[in-house]
Amino acid sequence: MAESVCECCQTIKIHGMIFNVVERIREQNPQDVEEGKCLAHWKAMDKKILNISYLQGYISDFCKDPMENNVDWFYLACRVFTRWAFGVLGRGVRIQIPECVMKRISETFPL
Ligand SMILES: [Zn+2]
Repeated sequence: MAESVCECCQTIKIHGMIFNVVERIREQNPQDVEEGKCLAHWKAMDKKILNISYLQGYISDFCKDPMENNVDWFYLACRVFTRWAFGVLGRGVRIQIPECVMKRISETFPL
């Protein structure tokens, strides 16, 4: 499987500043880190970010209930990813999600 580390999930820009995503996850959820592997293919992606029963625990934080379609699940998965990777963000802070992660989210919840 092509799961080598891709550049897109190693660094990311937030308000023009470069952050190392893996280091941020290591602070938030050290048990989930898998060294030397594209984070889109970490076990935590399947267990958490792409897993509807895990996502359901966050509906009341981020979405209206009931969830109606993949647009809702796609949006929720993006929000849960940033919460998982970066913790609670200030209001209005927007984070660009790594391309490889976006790809997996959109494969799971096709729009
Ligand atoms: Zn990647």
